[in-house]
Amino acid sequence: MALLTQAIKGTQDTLPKDSYKIRFVEQTIAEIAANFGFKEIRTPVFEHTELFNRSVGDTTDVVQKEMYTFDDKGGRSITLRPEGTAGAMRAFLEHGLFNEPLPQKVFYQTSCYRYEKPQAGRLREFHQFGVECFGTDSPAADAEIISLASEIFGFLGVKDLELQINSIGCPTCRAEYQNALKSYFASRKDELCGTCLDRLDRNPMRILDCKSPVCSEIAKGAPTVLEFLCDECKAHFDMVQKYLKVMNIDFVVNPTIVRGLDYYTKTVFEFVSQGIGSQGTVCGGGRYDGLAEELGGNHVPSLGFAMGMERLMLVLEAQGIELPPEEKCNLYIAPAGENASLKAAELVTALRQEGIYALFDTVGRGIKAQMKYANKIGAEYVVVLGDNEIESGKVELKNMESGKVTEMSLATFADDFSGVSIQQSVAKLSDEFSSSDLSNVDLSAILGGSF
Ligand code: ATP
Ligand code: MG
Repeated sequence: MALLTQAIKGTQDTLPKDSYKIRFVEQTIAEIAANFGFKEIRTPVFEHTELFNRSVGDTTDVVQKEMYTFDDKGGRSITLRPEGTAGAMRAFLEHGLFNEPLPQKVFYQTSCYRYEKPQAGRLREFHQFGVECFGTDSPAADAEIISLASEIFGFLGVKDLELQINSIGCPTCRAEYQNALKSYFASRKDELCGTCLDRLDRNPMRILDCKSPVCSEIAKGAPTVLEFLCDECKAHFDMVQKYLKVMNIDFVVNPTIVRGLDYYTKTVFEFVSQGIGSQGTVCGGGRYDGLAEELGGNHVPSLGFAMGMERLMLVLEAQGIELPPEEKCNLYIAPAGENASLKAAELVTALRQEGIYALFDTVGRGIKAQMKYANKIGAEYVVVLGDNEIESGKVELKNMESGKVTEMSLATFADDFSGVSIQQSVAKLSDEFSSSDLSNVDLSAILGGSF
């Protein structure tokens, strides 16, 4: 029976105490992405399995071990998306977006599914913010998406992330590199793990990615991809770095980054945190110039990245970054009796139409218990509404923080309270604008609430 009240291993619920934070981060990210010209795309949570085999690549861990694949009732092989690029590229090709002005720049905030060993920062259902930029081979585009990720981290106040970049070349120069790798690792064959032995034939670059201590030690002595880049790939990589420099983005070149996915070409990059344990890669991306053709389309040089939202939240937490607090109930109306309850219902309706966060008792509590409740939820103002108030047409508005009480007319209450609330929000905002920490200003402005 415990199964009924237990989420599946590797999945997690987001409860109200946390969901507003994630919503804030997602909203902030979407707004920053919009400033870079990225528009939202939504694609189905499942696709034909073949799409992922092709686009993620069937020598990758994702395809070989991690996909949630099943036959549907019509006998089709279906897979829950392990990542977002394949679906976005499929949609780009299917809907002929290549006929629209290029580049086409899309983003998504979506769930992904991978059968992995659950641990901190590694789940079976997780969420990604991802961007894809279709239809440009310019290094300016590589730098632009990196600067988008960097801008997001900067805006949120994340400090300890290191940007690592590399180039893995194009199919031409990579072939030569793969050969060099193959002979290097073949010479240490007896020491490699079982998985890497298999990789040795199928895709030796993947050995560089192996997490086993022995293999990663051996990988340290392997030839690096940068020595094998052709002139074009080298020039591209140099230009990316030039752009990053003028954009004031710090980076290190790390020739061991190869990324887990087969369709990457040229630039690859990761943003890595030291503060959240071994699953430190918060964002990874790069170019995939060969993907559109792999899926039967024309040549569409493209690139993108994906950011793990759970890992990002872990980083924010680890660094003690404060997000704006949850919006507080502006007004709680505490009615005593049926008549008052009906009046309260009328009032909150009018107030909510003005965008005010207003509540009234929907439980049937007595006044004392209602006051306790209003206190607990942190209501900013409370009004008690009984037969006396309805008869006299006057109510007392209590400011819960200062204890100050203001008498107001019941007839014009909704309008008058909207005025009070707006004034208060303006005062609060101008307070924050005069504070020295600029990053707080924007945060509160976005969450500002009632107007
Ligand atoms: P890793 O090396 O950590 O397994 P990856 O190369 O498999 O990462 P990508 O496919 O590039 O990851 O996915 C992009 C981002 O999505 C990662 O950098 C990470 O932040 C996040 N991510 C990937 N897999 C998971 C997971 N199982 N749980 C939570 N986040 C994940
Ligand atoms: Mg992985």
